Amino acid sequence: MIAKTLAGRTALIVGASSGLGARFAEIYAQAGANVILGARRLDRTTDLAEKIIASGGQALPAEMDVTDEASIIAAFDAAEARFGTVNVIVANAGIQKAGRSTAVRSAAIAELMATNFTGVYLVAREGARRLIASGSKEREDGRIILIGSITADMSFQGDAAYAASKAAVAKLGKDFAREWVRQGVNVNVVQPGYIDTDINGEWYQTDGGKAQIATFNRRRLQDASSLDEMMLFLASDNARAITGSVITIDDGQSL
Ligand code: NDP
Repeated sequence: MIAKTLAGRTALIVGASSGLGARFAEIYAQAGANVILGARRLDRTTDLAEKIIASGGQALPAEMDVTDEASIIAAFDAAEARFGTVNVIVANAGIQKAGRSTAVRSAAIAELMATNFTGVYLVAREGARRLIASGSKEREDGRIILIGSITADMSFQGDAAYAASKAAVAKLGKDFAREWVRQGVNVNVVQPGYIDTDINGEWYQTDGGKAQIATFNRRRLQDASSLDEMMLFLASDNARAITGSVITIDDGQSL
């Protein structure tokens, strides 16, 4: 049972069609927030919204592609029309283009950066613009959470472009936090460790994936639920004084 610490809040979770984003949407709804589920796969976010509504929550699916600014604006417009100002934004959309740096195609690097860096930038910026215009300075209710990765601080084979995009996310979080510090908008970055979701495909079922798990200090993948408490906290009123933090939650993988 999740306490209703987000009652009255409206949260846009980007990348809510699978994995971590779908989980964040469910726990935020259980905590009493109105949730907008942003992603390209509208069939999936529609199914999840129906599930949340059937459990007594408030949810709206919103088709959006973070590489297309017009679709980001349209999703915020739809969210506002339904629930009013979005005061929690989770910039969670991300893709991986793994491979040796000598082999990765330049088009793949461009797609990765458009999603993992520019997409995060544009989502956070649109949210902050609207929060500031609506008077967040007085309310101090803005909460923006960027989803980074432990790869920002570590080096693995085949991860260079992805890791660099996540290092950029960590830097963005700090600089956005500084820029909006007197506008009532808090910005923090959560850096998870390796978790079994679609982004990793079948990797952890392969010999290479199993060998990687054996290198983790606890010899296991992180459980997605390990992010729940921090994600709920950072979105809540209780996190009023927390901004510009980069928080690693990785089951000790990066130690
Ligand atoms: P998933 O592949 O399950 O989820 C990725 C989500 O991003 C999907 O909902 C996808 O939706 C969305 N997305 C991708 N591209 C776009 C786009 N252009 N526009 C809008 N949405 C997009 O993986 P995870 O849940 O694991 O990943 C979520 C975040 O967590 C990512 O940023 C990832 O880098 C990060 N992360 C994951 C880790 C892990 O080990 N799983 C570890 C550390 C960080 P759709 O395709 O429908 O658009």
